Amino acid sequence: MLNTESIRSLKGIGDKTAKLYEKLGIFTVGDLLSHYPRAYESMEPPVPIGSLKEDQVMAVSSALTKAPDLVRFNRMQMVSVYLKDLTGSVQVVWFNMPYMKNNLKPGTVYVFRGRVVKKRGRLMMEQPEVFTQEAYEAVAPSMQPVYSQTKGLGNKAIVKAVSQALESRTLEREYMPSYIRKKHQLAEINYAVEHIHFPENQSQLLFARKRLVFDEFFLFLTGVRKLKEKRADQTSAYVMKPAAQVKEFEDSLPYKLTPAQKRTWEEIAGDLSSGLVMNRLVQGDVGSGKTIVALLALLTAAYNGFQGALMAPTEVLARQHFESVNQLLSQRNMEIRTVLVTGSMTAREKRQAYEKIRTHEADLIIGTHALIQEKVEYHNLALVITDEQHRFGVGQRELFSGKGEDPHVLVMSATPIPRTLAIILYGDLDISVIDQLPQGRQPIKNCVVNPQWRPKAYEFIRKQVEEGRQAYVICPMVEPSELLEAENVLDYTKTLRKELPSSITVEYLHGQMKGKEKNAIMERFASGDIQVLVSTTVIEVGVNVPNATVMMIENAERFGLAQLHQLRGRVGRGAFQSYCIMVNCSQDESTGKRLEILNQSNDGFYIASQDLKLRGPGDIFGLRQSGDLEFKLADIFTDAALLKAASQEVNQLLDEDPELEKEEHQELRRRISAYVGENYEKLNL
Ligand code: ADP
Ligand code: MG
Repeated sequence: MLNTESIRSLKGIGDKTAKLYEKLGIFTVGDLLSHYPRAYESMEPPVPIGSLKEDQVMAVSSALTKAPDLVRFNRMQMVSVYLKDLTGSVQVVWFNMPYMKNNLKPGTVYVFRGRVVKKRGRLMMEQPEVFTQEAYEAVAPSMQPVYSQTKGLGNKAIVKAVSQALESRTLEREYMPSYIRKKHQLAEINYAVEHIHFPENQSQLLFARKRLVFDEFFLFLTGVRKLKEKRADQTSAYVMKPAAQVKEFEDSLPYKLTPAQKRTWEEIAGDLSSGLVMNRLVQGDVGSGKTIVALLALLTAAYNGFQGALMAPTEVLARQHFESVNQLLSQRNMEIRTVLVTGSMTAREKRQAYEKIRTHEADLIIGTHALIQEKVEYHNLALVITDEQHRFGVGQRELFSGKGEDPHVLVMSATPIPRTLAIILYGDLDISVIDQLPQGRQPIKNCVVNPQWRPKAYEFIRKQVEEGRQAYVICPMVEPSELLEAENVLDYTKTLRKELPSSITVEYLHGQMKGKEKNAIMERFASGDIQVLVSTTVIEVGVNVPNATVMMIENAERFGLAQLHQLRGRVGRGAFQSYCIMVNCSQDESTGKRLEILNQSNDGFYIASQDLKLRGPGDIFGLRQSGDLEFKLADIFTDAALLKAASQEVNQLLDEDPELEKEEHQELRRRISAYVGENYEKLNL
């Protein structure tokens, strides 16, 4: 959105509140207006108590017959009251909100709206919002936006700010040419912005969303197209010859490359020697063996006298790459020098690393974003490889090459995007697909179980550990929370230490730990010193400990399918039979169906396609795909048809009017250049 006025210009937002908004990435009124709701609450009319359903947010209307009770236990305070009507009764509770006791007057009719849960076989409503009858009638039926929030900045405050911003804004001039809007039945831009926040019903919401999704794709693809033009036939300063040492290295590996790895490596090697700058995407499911292909390319650069860099999205992964590359090199007495650069290194360590890079005492540089964020000066950096992360564009490339020449670029991704979509989204890249797993891999055995099955799972983990294997246990949360019933890493570690024999070392890992602590734990797990690792999703991408054979995922219902697939990809990476245990703590039928997809298949493409079928076109706020293509609203799977439409329009438009000089394209030109300005770094355009 184009409004660049500070959010401080809104009533009621001073320095203190503005700081909270900044935490959400909102600085301007435009940012606020594109802080789209993460969900909508349909405020439906109250239902009879007898028709309350588990796991749903519902409203009931009832008169209080007596004042609520305040109960204290442990350090908790709970306000509780029973509601009754002709169809049944239900207990309503609030935790640590003692004032609710005095807020509610006996004899008055209220509407209670909250989540219905089942505890000890009985339904109850937790933490409901309370309305007077009139207040509820004023809002129901309607759809209320739910925004992502931060501590100190709740939904109500954001709703208020957004509606103020909508009222006081200057309307945006329509920039999408009317022939495109007509052809695809797209809402007017101001209508779309208004109704994405405050739709009256589902059809208004879908209409508004369609326009904004189209725009997201459209603007993004104009950028991709520009990149493609800029890159086409760009001659490279780093032309490489095949190196005999690389071939020797390949032959010395304990395994043979799969035909798919071979083909991909040949395509890369062809690019490196072609005289043009390489821009290639390597797509391959988890465990397909992308790393070794990357290493062959890096070694080729090194033996041609150049530097090569490998960038990973997390410190854990960067360090792992560093260790495993070093091991492969030293086992063979190869004289390739490596260096690691990560954010958690001390200033002194960093200085030493930079010095080695600047003076070309290091051939291979492995690290996190620190590789580009810090002032690293490369010396003949000929190849940059990014593992499991965002596309890599001119912006980052400039940061890498400094005043030097453009390096070859290889992007490695496990996101299972069908080829037709990949060609559009990565239009600026050539694509290689590793569509085979290494031989001898046994398919992972899966099971979806309910929480009662836990003791058996622990027993199973114990047996696996006794056979010399290792296990991951994933919990969605770090610490206990009163509001959310989900397993947490800290308590779970304690439980497992009790449940498993003391000879088994159980440790934990989560994102709030210091970099050094995380590294130490990860190293101990990789070396086998720790047998059971309880972790949040920090280990989701890339981590490779082939000896680990059990992946147990608690509250599996809380994760998206793509994420579960990535997590499961941490096992089954060696010769041992591996297992994935998904604990489903929800009774919900559709959750069961979703998990069943994973239970039946280990194939990322299949899972993505089935996920799509289950979600259906109206189910737009379903679970987001994890992965490297993040749009604000758009989902490349559910919105595939719009993606294709936007792609066609962009291509036609830029074929006919490459510089957007026509009168009818002036507003669009202005919008695109603002977009490129805003996203220069983020989207790497
Ligand atoms: P990903 O594609 O998920 O990044 P990795 O590159 O981490 O996968 O490879 C997973 C595991 O498979 C590693 O332990 C690696 O050594 C091993 N591996 C790679 N290629 C082969 C192969 N052709 N045969 C057997 N094992 C392989
Ligand atoms: Mg990997």
